[in-house]
Order: sequence, then structure tokens, then C-alpha cells
Amino acid sequence: MNLPQISEAISPAGIGQAMFELIADLYPICRSITGNGVRQTLKRIQQVVPIEIHEVPSGTKVFDWEVPDEWNIRDAYIKNAGGERLVDFHHSNLHVLNYSIPFRGRMGLHELKEHIFTLPEHPDWIPYRTSYYKRQWGFCMTHRQFMKLRDEEYEVCIDATLAPGSLTYGELCLPGRTTDEVLVSCHVCHPSLCNDNLSGIALAAYLARRLSEQGRRYTYRFVFIPGTIGSITWLALNRTNVARIKHGLVVACVGDSGRLTYKKSRQGNAEIDRAVQHVLKHSGSEYEVLDFVPYGYDERQYGSPGFNLPIGSLTRTPHGRYPEYHTSADNLEFVSSEALAVSLDMYQRVLDVLENNRRYRNLNPYCEPQLGKRGLYGPVGGQADRHLREMALLWVLNLSDGENSLLDIADRANLNFVHIRQAAKDLEECGLLEECQG
Ligand code: ZN
Repeated sequence: MNLPQISEAISPAGIGQAMFELIADLYPICRSITGNGVRQTLKRIQQVVPIEIHEVPSGTKVFDWEVPDEWNIRDAYIKNAGGERLVDFHHSNLHVLNYSIPFRGRMGLHELKEHIFTLPEHPDWIPYRTSYYKRQWGFCMTHRQFMKLRDEEYEVCIDATLAPGSLTYGELCLPGRTTDEVLVSCHVCHPSLCNDNLSGIALAAYLARRLSEQGRRYTYRFVFIPGTIGSITWLALNRTNVARIKHGLVVACVGDSGRLTYKKSRQGNAEIDRAVQHVLKHSGSEYEVLDFVPYGYDERQYGSPGFNLPIGSLTRTPHGRYPEYHTSADNLEFVSSEALAVSLDMYQRVLDVLENNRRYRNLNPYCEPQLGKRGLYGPVGGQADRHLREMALLWVLNLSDGENSLLDIADRANLNFVHIRQAAKDLEECGLLEECQG
């Protein structure tokens, strides 16, 4: 692990670039729900933040599931009768049906076609297909390539192993002043796909790095896990600890140019749901809010009825809603350092709301206190700023009866949380406000 790199500061402008570079480094690796690709990925993340790598043996019972055999692949190809590699795993790892069983054989076109996946509507893209739970072999290729196949004998090879081993995941805990936790979860099981998977990994890694450099009220737990089976495994191993999770987000698809989209937690009106919607509303950018559905990424496991954790998912264009999704066109050109940096900033703003969302009591509740004599009407800014500041002070004083949180006040006042928070700070400093404990 390269610890000195962790203390090396990254400028806010450079962080999008750093995230993009991490994506570019991870892009060529062939990942799956288990195997060396995940290990290699987690080791690279350790250069950004010191995550711990965990191994869970194949066959371990995790709720209704079982940790599967470990898949590793070295090579795969389809050769024509002349010995030419028409499809080559080393050109794109998407060419192999992910989790294919090992296979070697010769066959005619008719038989081979049964094992080939293409996208006729996008003839130059390779689709990404998996077969985790049905044992089969297969190849994915561009439709254009497929149309060129002649009726001849082909040599097919998938040099892979599917054998008992383990499921690998990464975890990082950043302790805060309380043991209440915020969970940030991303999946690490997709091969060469940038927006779906790698952008989430990069955001989670750099968000963890930023948080590691600042004071924290909450304890933050980051998990880098294979989708579905990874969250099921993690929940099974941490069943008794999840009560500490008070808020959480599943990160994915945060590098494209689409608008930010928030999928609410199963609870629908949890503090995280309100915090994200508040930040999006005041971001000045277009956004969309979706209700929870039991489909999508790992929020569906965190939101299963036995857990019902307040965990939503903040993405840009959601999975399945862009044509490049799960194809070779979800590549390095599809994501940008600018989009990544803005997404990271949104996450940071949401966490700032959670960190600072307290309840206060007005210590001068009988009529308005005189703000002028306490120097609360500073000569800063123009008329508009002054009015905004005054409104924030009045709202905080009026609604700080011990019941309303600062987020409640910000929403009711329709003012940005940062102004409400600043007003509360100023009022507390001049003795007009006291934080409620518990
Ligand atoms: Zn996916």
C-alpha cells in the first residue's frame, strides 16, 4: 500500500482528473463477481484509500444464497479455419460471456451461433452479458463482425477456471465522533465498462479520501462489493451491525453527461431522501427524483424488508436508460472528469447536510430578539445577500423550538441549507441558540 500518496493533497480542480485516471487504470481489468480482477481492482483502490480486502470462501451460506465458485480467465478466442483469431478476449474482455464455463472445441457456424450475443440495433458495439447462475459458455461481438462469419469450421477456446475459491470485497471504516454510520456502497463486478461500475468506484474512493482528511460527526463505512451477491454476503456477515447505519447511498453511473437522478430509499422520506432532494433542488441544475423500486443496484438488498435501511441511490442517467449501458460504448469517452467532479461535489454537499443537521432551541423565544445590537446585521454583501441572511436568521430563530432540524427549517423556508446552517452558527455564537442533545 502506498501510504504517502494518501496524504498528498489533490486540488479541487484536479480531483475530477484523478478520478478519471483511476477509471482509466481500472478499465482494462476483467472483473466479475469473484476472481483476480476484483482483487487487482481493490489493490489499485488502496493507492487512493486504505481499504481492507476481505475474502469469503465459496460455498458460504449467505441468507438464501451461497457464495459461488471463483471465476478466473486467462484467454478466449474464436479462430476461423485459417487459424485467424476473429474474436479475441485480449482485444476486449467484453467478448466473453462473463462467468463462462471453460470450453474448448471445434464446430460449424450453426452450432457456434447458439453461443453468440450481438446488438443488431448498435452494430458496432459489443454487448456485455453475464451468466452467473446458469453454467454455460458464450461470446459477445459486434453485429457487424457476426454478419461476416462464414459457414466454416471454427476453433473455440475459453481458457477459464470456475472452481472453489472466494468472493472478494473491500471495506473502509472512517470513525467519527459517534458510532452512527453512513454507508456508501458501490459495485466492483463489471469488466471494461466505465460509467456503470468504474465511475462509482472512483467517486466512492475519492469521497472516502476527502472524508479521511476532515473531522467527522458520523462514522463512514465504504464497501466495494460485487453487485447483488456482494451486498447479500456483506449483509449476512454484518447482520448485527447494520442497526448503526442511519443513512446511506449506493453510487453508480456518475460519470456521464446526464442530469443527476436520485432514487429514494424504500422508506421514501428518510433524512437521506430529504437531504439529497434538498441539495439537488438548490443545485441550480436539472435533476430527477424517482421512487424506490425493488430493482436496480444494491439498494434493493439494503432495502429488503428485513433490513429496510435508509439507503437511496444518487446517479446521473440511471442504469438501462442510456443506449451505451452494458455495451462497449460505455467506455472512456463516455465519462468525463468534469461530470465526475460535479457528482463528487453533490455527494459531498449531501454529506455536509447530514453532518450539520442538528436541532436547536431558541434561548430568547418571547418575541424576536434584537439582531442589530448583537452585530448580526453585518455590513457584508449587497441588499439581496443582506435580505437572505436576515431571513435565514429569522427562520432559524422562529423554528428552533427543539423539534425542527436545520434541514426542516431550510425546506420550510425554501432556503439553501448552507445559509440556514451559517445562521444557526452565528446565533449560537451570540448566545441566542443552544444545540439540543440526543
Ligand atoms: Zn450493470
